[in-house]
Amino acid sequence: MNISGGRHRKNIDEAVTALKSSLSGLSSEEASRRLEQYGPNELKEKKKKTMFMMLLDQFKDFMILVLIAAAVISGIVGEASDTIAIIIIVVLNAVIGFVQEYRAEKAMEALKKMAAPSAVVMRDAMPSTVPASNIVPGDIVVLEAGNIVPADLRIIESAMLKTEEAALTGESLSVEKHTRSIDEENLPLGDRKNMAYKGTTVSYGRGQGLVVATGMDTELGRIAAMIQDEDEVKTPLQKRLAVFGQRLAIAVLVICAIVFGLGVMRGEEPLLMLLTAISLAVAAIPEALPAVVTISLALGARKLIKQNALIRKLPAVETLGSVTYICSDKTGTLTLNKMTVEEIWADGDIKRVKELNSQSIKASDTFFTALALSNDAKTDAENNIIGDPTEIALYNIAKDNGFDKAAIEQTMPRVAEIPFDSERKRMTTFHKSADGIVSFTKGAVEFLIEKSEHILTSDGLKELNRAEVLKISERMAADGLRVLCIAMRTWDSPPADMSPENVETGLTVLGLAGLMDPPREEAKEAIRLCKTAGIKPVMITGDHPATAAAIARRLGIIEDGDGVMTGRELQELPLEDFEKRVDSIGVYARVAPEQKLKIVRALQDKGQFVAMTGDGVNDAPALKRADIGIAMGITGTDVSKEASKMILLDDNFATIVRAVKEGRRIFDNIRKFIKYTMTSNSGEIWTIFLAPFFGLPVPLLPIHILWINLVTDGLPGLALAAEPSEKGIMNKPPRHPQESIFAQSLGIHIIWVGLLMGFTSIFTQAWSIKTGNAHWQTMVFTVLCLSQMGHVLAIRSDSESLFSQGLFSNKPLLGAFLLTFALQMATIYVPFMNPIFKTEPLSFNELMFTLALSSVVFFAVEIEKFFRRKKWPAS
Ligand code: ATP
Repeated sequence: MNISGGRHRKNIDEAVTALKSSLSGLSSEEASRRLEQYGPNELKEKKKKTMFMMLLDQFKDFMILVLIAAAVISGIVGEASDTIAIIIIVVLNAVIGFVQEYRAEKAMEALKKMAAPSAVVMRDAMPSTVPASNIVPGDIVVLEAGNIVPADLRIIESAMLKTEEAALTGESLSVEKHTRSIDEENLPLGDRKNMAYKGTTVSYGRGQGLVVATGMDTELGRIAAMIQDEDEVKTPLQKRLAVFGQRLAIAVLVICAIVFGLGVMRGEEPLLMLLTAISLAVAAIPEALPAVVTISLALGARKLIKQNALIRKLPAVETLGSVTYICSDKTGTLTLNKMTVEEIWADGDIKRVKELNSQSIKASDTFFTALALSNDAKTDAENNIIGDPTEIALYNIAKDNGFDKAAIEQTMPRVAEIPFDSERKRMTTFHKSADGIVSFTKGAVEFLIEKSEHILTSDGLKELNRAEVLKISERMAADGLRVLCIAMRTWDSPPADMSPENVETGLTVLGLAGLMDPPREEAKEAIRLCKTAGIKPVMITGDHPATAAAIARRLGIIEDGDGVMTGRELQELPLEDFEKRVDSIGVYARVAPEQKLKIVRALQDKGQFVAMTGDGVNDAPALKRADIGIAMGITGTDVSKEASKMILLDDNFATIVRAVKEGRRIFDNIRKFIKYTMTSNSGEIWTIFLAPFFGLPVPLLPIHILWINLVTDGLPGLALAAEPSEKGIMNKPPRHPQESIFAQSLGIHIIWVGLLMGFTSIFTQAWSIKTGNAHWQTMVFTVLCLSQMGHVLAIRSDSESLFSQGLFSNKPLLGAFLLTFALQMATIYVPFMNPIFKTEPLSFNELMFTLALSSVVFFAVEIEKFFRRKKWPAS
């Protein structure tokens, strides 16, 4: 793709002027001034739905429009008060729908905001993290592997900086970026080596860039086709419900046609029958179900934030409960990522740090100098040490022994480096020295030992005894320590070929450092919980197998004798053979991030539902492929976050398990909501449909049907979302993600309880008519409405009795129940409501009779649960 860069000229000139005036970045005041001038660094979004449109959408349903039309027609030819009452109820229904959708939308917006990217820029001469939208032309952006480039930048510093520009050019190979002349701007995008573009990713190295364009002025902004708003993804459940809803709608329409036909044949007034049939269709077609699922998931996602899990893709909330494998990084997730050096080995001498002082280890000067210099930790303005915890630990031990990085750098400044990457598992820095150049390499022991020939001792250089050093490092690793080897090499002049193969070889070993990273206490309990919940926790780490196994054993991930597989073994095994063994492996060690993909694939091929964590740039493919990719909020790179479905705000393994539990609860509650509404609908249909077969008139008027639908489906149904998790929710195996929503006898429940509701109402009607009671319709209306209230209380748990749960354990539901009860009583006893609802006040005896019959469903479902408890005592 060739896009002319000439249009940038003005911005570039301005930016270059800014660079000349200050290499330490903009001042905060100047940055805010420019933010006003250029606007936020954002791509324009598709126009959002206005609140009015959202409200209007509630009336889009075809059946509702038919109902309103029919009500108006019948109003014109009959009583206008009916029409008004029906329209009011329909509007109220729409308002409830609107309020819910609005809340869900706000919750989603908040989620999006929290997941918005940030970037490190130089402001007031200090590096500071700002929201990417606040970046302005003239800012200096610090780039590191894993960053998503936040704006179009001219590279002003590069340490092997490479970016991947597939988002712009379609080319997935990384492009090396360096500082070059300004003339490049008329080259095609992929060829401009001195520019990094918004939306591309830093795949390797480090660097800095000067912002030349932001927001819609960037190349990304110019390519209109790239500015696609993310389509809303439907969750698997929503998709299934939508298909199911269509089929059900047809069935309901057929039933309503029969109800209408039978009524007219029996001589009922055709217009009234038409209205009755349409009201029934409106009440019984569960057209709102997919929307309710979205609302529950969005509100669930909001709740998950409080538990430190930020959901990026809504379907993840639904599927969290189905997770069967959690594959987790070790460092920072299962451990605290607070490293301290515990043991040091140099010149044949092993020392616990507690006993250490600078005199007691021979050959220590060079060793500690190497630790201090080959180190990326630095101090900030407040004198805090910042950087990777491994680096900080090494920095500290050197400093504690009198080797201060800043002081030594005065005489031995860093002149070049090959940055650390988790593939090579080592890094190298080059320093000026009195005799030329010295390079220090530090990293994984096995690799460095292979590339070393000598060892530095107090008696000078000696031949390296590889077996001995490996034995010592393995002993240290078996105690759970991360062991790093430190080595050096001297050069007369800087090497012309700076490739790792050329530089990191022919080394002289200086010593080993053993670092402790304590396991997280809460991870232990979370792992225990995983096991009872049928979830297998697996550790995947770049660390040595002995270190990994020791920590995994402490956490309870593996027992003695359980499988530990190394990256090398994993690489050599063909996928089919690996699949045969994958069940028995609890720890993968010395794994390169790319290999995580093979693990996910093998597990998925075996039908497992995999959650996988990752933080680095190379973890992205595995995160994308996993059923639930989980990125780290604190240490994770932009790229890994972008590829994930969920972000752990505290990087903590226990948070994943809490989120799984919450996911199970949310799904349970959605199921309960479906159970509740569908049973109610089925009850309404049976009542109207079956009555004529018993020689009875149509039991309810359209306004009754619509009222029941409004008050029962509205608040009580939604309050089910507040239901706390079932006891033993983490003692059950995970739900199969493909499992039908009607599994576990939900479908049967809907039919039999619906029939029971229908028969109770018809019995009320028949009995009252037989005994000459003139209030029969008010009684049927009340029995059907309150039966549904009894039902909602009874299905709060799938097996536990309401009497042991207690009424107060879901206060919103109790409130909704009381309010609905009060409203129903008002339709009977508040005089002005009688003509609207065509009701009459009931006598005390009639009321008692009605209440008794209304509780039949409640007790019947309690009995069903009693038998469930007997059959499955554990659940
Ligand atoms: P996990 O996958 O459990 O999170 P990790 O991501 O911390 O582990 P890496 O950071 O890739 O794993 O480290 C793998 C190996 O690389 C370590 O065992 C160590 O040998 C080496 N290593 C780690 N950090 C450094 C560093 N700062 N300098 C040199 N080598 C390092």
